[in-house]
Amino acid sequence: MSLAIKNIISATSSRFEGIHPDCEIDNVAIDSRSLQNNSGTLFFALPGQNRDGHDYITQLIEKGVLNFVVTNIPENAFGKANFFVVENTLKALQDFARWYRQHYTFPVIAITGSCGKTIVKEWLNYLLSPDYNIIRSPKSYNSQVGVPLSIIGINEKHNLGIFEAGISTVNEMQKLEEIIRPEIGILTNIGSAHDEGFTDRQEKIQEKLKLFENCKTIILKKDTEVLKLLNPGLKTFTWSFDDGADVKISPTPMGNATALDISFGLNKFTASVPFIDEASIENAITSLMVLLHMGYSNEIIIERLAGLYPMELRLQVKNGINGCTIIDDTYSSDYQSLKIALDFLEQHKTHEKKTVILSDVFQSGFEAGILYSKVASLLQSHNISQVIGIGETISRELADFPNFYPYATTQEFLAHYRANAFDNETVLVKGARSFRFDEIVVFLEEKTHETVLEINLNAIVHNLNFYKSRLKPQTKIMVMVKAFGYGSGSYEIAKLLSHQKVDYLGVAFADEGIALRNAGINTPIIVMNPETSAFAAMAAYNLEPEIYSAKELRAFVALAQQKNLSDYPIHVKLDTGMHRLGFMENQLEELIDLLRNNNFVSVKSIFSHLSSSDVPEFRDFTLQQIESFDRWSQRIIDALEINPIRHILNTSGIYNYPQAQYDMVRLGIGLYGVGNDEQERSQLETVGTLKTVILQIKDIVSGESIGYSRRFITNKPMRIATLPIGYADGIRRAWGNEKGYVLINGKRATITGTISMDMMMVDVTDIECREGDTAIIFGKSPSVVEMAQALQTIPYEILTGISQRVKRVFYKE
Ligand SMILES: *Cc1c(COP(=O)(O)O)cnc(C)c1O
Repeated sequence: MSLAIKNIISATSSRFEGIHPDCEIDNVAIDSRSLQNNSGTLFFALPGQNRDGHDYITQLIEKGVLNFVVTNIPENAFGKANFFVVENTLKALQDFARWYRQHYTFPVIAITGSCGKTIVKEWLNYLLSPDYNIIRSPKSYNSQVGVPLSIIGINEKHNLGIFEAGISTVNEMQKLEEIIRPEIGILTNIGSAHDEGFTDRQEKIQEKLKLFENCKTIILKKDTEVLKLLNPGLKTFTWSFDDGADVKISPTPMGNATALDISFGLNKFTASVPFIDEASIENAITSLMVLLHMGYSNEIIIERLAGLYPMELRLQVKNGINGCTIIDDTYSSDYQSLKIALDFLEQHKTHEKKTVILSDVFQSGFEAGILYSKVASLLQSHNISQVIGIGETISRELADFPNFYPYATTQEFLAHYRANAFDNETVLVKGARSFRFDEIVVFLEEKTHETVLEINLNAIVHNLNFYKSRLKPQTKIMVMVKAFGYGSGSYEIAKLLSHQKVDYLGVAFADEGIALRNAGINTPIIVMNPETSAFAAMAAYNLEPEIYSAKELRAFVALAQQKNLSDYPIHVKLDTGMHRLGFMENQLEELIDLLRNNNFVSVKSIFSHLSSSDVPEFRDFTLQQIESFDRWSQRIIDALEINPIRHILNTSGIYNYPQAQYDMVRLGIGLYGVGNDEQERSQLETVGTLKTVILQIKDIVSGESIGYSRRFITNKPMRIATLPIGYADGIRRAWGNEKGYVLINGKRATITGTISMDMMMVDVTDIECREGDTAIIFGKSPSVVEMAQALQTIPYEILTGISQRVKRVFYKE
């Protein structure tokens, strides 16, 4: 892209106030933190939830940025840069993208649906990249901001576009359609629930279908409800597991893969995909439909579908040898994903020294010389300490790059590799699939057979945003990170949440709050069960107490007086029916008297807790609690003439009683991916996966007993795998003796015999597996909810019961 000022003025319909009329624009940015080429950057100052782009303009001018799209020019910036003044900068960004898009005529595929958009996009990129120079949305850029930014990434070398479009309410899709202007439309799956932003499911579908208004073909699973709503003038290409669609697919499970019998008119053939779960199979079929539509031969389709890979294999963080951290990204190597991986490496500040192991870079549409000079400047701008290049092209093209070590092949690298060559550094292993960099990762990975609880940080953000989407934008959010973040790890989650700008964190005890402060968390923290003995420490660490009785209040005020504190924030708890902690109605007068004219403390919030927000039978009781809360808190507010934050809803409360959100809500279990309601759960993402590995496998003849107390006797020859995890890790004994199961290579392995303290045995007679293979104790399946139901407890108890000796590993996709 190289655009003149006059192009920008007309594309954004802006008024120009500038001092550099001869500037050329070659890229666009909205985030002050990730700018590349400053003098050619056009910065759109977007208003954000937390920060406004306008606030960064002065700072960016100092860094050399010259061009800004703004609604108003900051006072001290006048005459120091070029300003394009518009009424609405988001609209200007969209107008600009729409204008920019008109310059390209190659075919564009657009994907929408409730789930699977990103995976289908990534898979299509993988399937089609041998034949096209593809531009695709980075990550999940599918919003009103993400789509324009994706489109602006197009350049003259591309000849196919694949973009996602996501919407959260009505009147959004048309804007995205006008920007993307797709020729082929893809509808992945439409969730059964209707989202908050729509009055019903039909409205949601109708809005999504607006993406396809000018498409030549729409690819979708045959679904009468959807087809009824689709403009009949549009051409569809449908598939189904039954007869009646253009393509009929019959899946048959085959070990860890699924064979798909494909019948498309007279053309019948079988292709296999390396998945067994329903969602992956449907996404693979959607991708397959595109290949069929584009006229690919059966042979190529069979070959390429076999190479599909699970998305979660991207950007995994692993512990490496010699104290290293390994970032494993061994499935693709194009310029765009290299940039994403390098940004990720930069954010991952564990070690100062950073090494990149990089294969030949493909798929960009540039000449080798131009491409590698871009790669070189990308590496340079990310301050990489050394680069190991594997492949003939990269070895040649980056030969002059400082600290560059070339190898022709992966084998050559592995043959010359010394285990002590890497030490206390972060190593990004990034290569195209054909280079088999997974073998490098195996070498670099720390060799411990261990049990880990993997925590998906993206899923936490997704879940947070799900609950946010059900609340008014101004409602504050407090997240409960008590009990070690419901077992998921307190510091890492608190760090993520403070980055997400949640308003409060809630802990149970003062020492949990102190640990967070020591780790550098500055978000306000409420201590729910403060003990009098901890008051002084709380004041020292800026922790805010829940006040639940007059006695406690007196003690805290005495401390405040002694320490010379004034207006120390406190949170008054009312007991409206839980009967755990809090002031009852007949104690309000005393509370008000104590607080009246009291300058030592200040009532920051008044709150109560619902005992049964997840139990529909107790709706009346819950409404009664809310009513009492309303009345009592109002009485305090009126008597003291204060204006505190009011809050009563926990996770299920947010879901079932949004009308009672007041000024803040307290999110707990839902953040960790466990809703109490089935519908709610289906919209959350799994956060924790507890994994271990097979320690030993043995063949046992019929009639033998397994484990303590001979509770299981084999009635046929069986193959038994021993896993190094037991009840001391938090796995209930009641889950053993054939009640529970683990997942090994995608298959259920029943737990045989009694669970021991540190080990358990599972039946792998019909499962192909080896020692060292992974066993999933819980995650997507079995889920914590399923376990809790079978064990007659609640997910909270399972999650918080996972022993602290189980290592928590955090990752982002
Ligand atoms: C734990 C807790 C919450 C969060 O409850 P969830 O059901 O996990 O959302 C909210 N408020 C209080 C007072 C709590 O103790």
